[in-house]
Amino acid sequence: MATRAGIRLTHGRSPLLAASESSSRPPPVPCLPLSKPKPYRRHMLVPLWRPLAPRSSPGRSSSYRTGFSSPVASMSSSSYEKELAAAKKAAPLAARLCQTVQKALLKSDIQSKEDKSPVTVADYGSQAIVSLVLKMELPSEKFSLVAEEDSADLQKDESQETLRRITDLVNDTFSSDGTYSISVSEEDVLVAIDSGKSEGGPHGRHWVLDPIDGTKGFLRGDQYAIALALLDEGRVVLGVLACPNLPFTSIANLDGHSSENQTGCLFSAQTGCGAYMQLLHEPSAAKISVCATENPADASFFESYEAAHSLHDLSGAIAKKLGVQAPPVRIDSQAKYGALARGDGAIYLRFPHKGYREKIWDHAAGSIVVTEAGGIASDAAGNNLDFSKGRYLDLDTGIIVTNKKLMPSVLNAVQEAIREQTQSASLL
Ligand code: AMP
Ligand code: MG
Repeated sequence: MATRAGIRLTHGRSPLLAASESSSRPPPVPCLPLSKPKPYRRHMLVPLWRPLAPRSSPGRSSSYRTGFSSPVASMSSSSYEKELAAAKKAAPLAARLCQTVQKALLKSDIQSKEDKSPVTVADYGSQAIVSLVLKMELPSEKFSLVAEEDSADLQKDESQETLRRITDLVNDTFSSDGTYSISVSEEDVLVAIDSGKSEGGPHGRHWVLDPIDGTKGFLRGDQYAIALALLDEGRVVLGVLACPNLPFTSIANLDGHSSENQTGCLFSAQTGCGAYMQLLHEPSAAKISVCATENPADASFFESYEAAHSLHDLSGAIAKKLGVQAPPVRIDSQAKYGALARGDGAIYLRFPHKGYREKIWDHAAGSIVVTEAGGIASDAAGNNLDFSKGRYLDLDTGIIVTNKKLMPSVLNAVQEAIREQTQSASLL
């Protein structure tokens, strides 16, 4: 709901507004043209954001705002076609497991990690499923996964029951989906989770996974995402974001009562081939793009729901400098990147508290989805995000995501606001 304090997007209901974003852009990869692109009608997002191809036509995609259908085969002749297809199987299946757990969320699902952040059974289960599916789908590829979780806590004696529950959940998810007829053991689950110990880096291919991005939102019953990306020679070449609680229709300019209440989105992007969105467990995808507003007064901005994750007062000062009229839209996870990529909002501002180091899995998938939708992502100094440095992003101060037209003025406002904050702190 829109309040001065911000808008909170919760499962199945919500408001807000406007457009765009980015990240480091890999060299272009040939994609066959999508044929006859037509400009989409930005103010008619709600009725048009429905997959127009019938369910029985998984080989076709449509442009969300034009309704024009084109063969999916034509959009991906690049070298990452197989990998993207695998990622689009893995993330939704992991999302199924997370959806099951979120529905029946119990306090006992919450464990503590050294850093005290909440880790759930779903977190481990999601990572195990993604790891298992990628290995099954791409058996001949060398497998390297940089992921948030490892099995150290699960190997402790007191975690036996948790491990059993995770294994049951993984098996139940596979069997209810039916795509893979496998049954895994507890040992298989531990091995699958620990495949995520890779350090990434500038050479070779590495999958990058956040099994549940936005754990706090997940536990609250709000937004979260399964975020999966592929790095090749240090660059993000594809990304998939499964957002089970994100309304399929625009969360822009709505009063939170969309006539359609379909929920659950799958965003996907491949370098040079555009960004797409589809209903989470449906086959038809449609092309998306960031909103093109050039006027900050028309823009709204996203930020973390959690004040501990991003300085709300700093983003408020930046918004004021820009003349942004709308209140901030506070939602959890990389669902922000997805919503921005489809034009629901124009700016995403993220300024962690001093000393926090951003992890690559919190931005890899989201950044390519936005970049391929025509946006741009940078740090507060205007540098592209660099995913080649291992498990952490080497960043200056914060992350800014917007469209290409707005970026210069947003960067100016960010730098000015940071300067002013630093000066007033030094006077204390
Ligand atoms: P968001 O939902 O956008 O606030 O981001 C969720 C992600 O923030 C989590 O997956 C964490 O990896 C990350 N995170 C955890 N603690 C912090 C922190 N103190 N500052 C910034 N990000 C954090
Ligand atoms: Mg995360």
